[in-house]
Amino acid sequence: MTTVGAALAAARTKLPASEARRLLGHVLARPTAWLIAHDDEILGEDALLAFASLVARRAGGEPAAYLVGRREFFGREFEVSPAVLIPRPETELLVELGIAKVGADSAATILDLGTGSGCIAITLALEMPLARVTAVDASEPALRVARDNAEKHVASLRLLQSDWFGALSGERFDLIVANPPYIADADPHLAAGDLRHEPQSALSSGADGLEAIRRIVADAPEHLNAGGQLLLEHGYDQAATVRELLEAAGLFGIEQHRDLAGIARVSGGRIR
Ligand code: GLN
Repeated sequence: MTTVGAALAAARTKLPASEARRLLGHVLARPTAWLIAHDDEILGEDALLAFASLVARRAGGEPAAYLVGRREFFGREFEVSPAVLIPRPETELLVELGIAKVGADSAATILDLGTGSGCIAITLALEMPLARVTAVDASEPALRVARDNAEKHVASLRLLQSDWFGALSGERFDLIVANPPYIADADPHLAAGDLRHEPQSALSSGADGLEAIRRIVADAPEHLNAGGQLLLEHGYDQAATVRELLEAAGLFGIEQHRDLAGIARVSGGRIR
């Protein structure tokens, strides 16, 4: 007979206690507070096996978000799968700036490029109920995750399969946001930690990591309404280059914003 407490104690030889609780909570569909209060509860064979398998996978490096199928972003839970990038806390900056640029009560048209789980677009749609949000991704499996998340949060937005602006010819928006891939193809980080398990198409972008950003910035002006705003997340060392790209594309009022770690992480500009 294995109790909740004993199972967690055994897992602690492989994982931090908080991670073990998160995985067991997932298996039992119980909040972690329940686990703490039910130390003596006897676990069934199926639950024990499922827990042992998750502990082994986590100890082997699989991201916890994929194992439990969820990650919190901007105060809401989003479904995630290995088809999508796991939402990052620094990306909340992009959302905050997007809301600040057009205003929470705005009926602006908004486009999110490479939406992945949909966390950016869905958050914008929920925080700006009057806005008309379009989200695109080149990956059909990613769009399915985004669709599920939109349904779960009862967010109304248009989801389209599109390689950046590919399926949006002739369409213009008041605000375009993107968290595109921006890591260099040969960056050793891609072979370490969570990144090993995430879709490479959502992470890496050419020899200098700027291929996607170059395309987006070059094409953005013909998809922005007069006075419209482009906001992009980028790598920790790309701010200067992204500023040059924005200026070269004819955007003005260039702004660069630091994330909570103090890194210039989101850049943007407007079109006349
Ligand atoms: N911020 C992510 C990381 O460095 C990368 C996300 C991206 O490429 N858009 O792990």
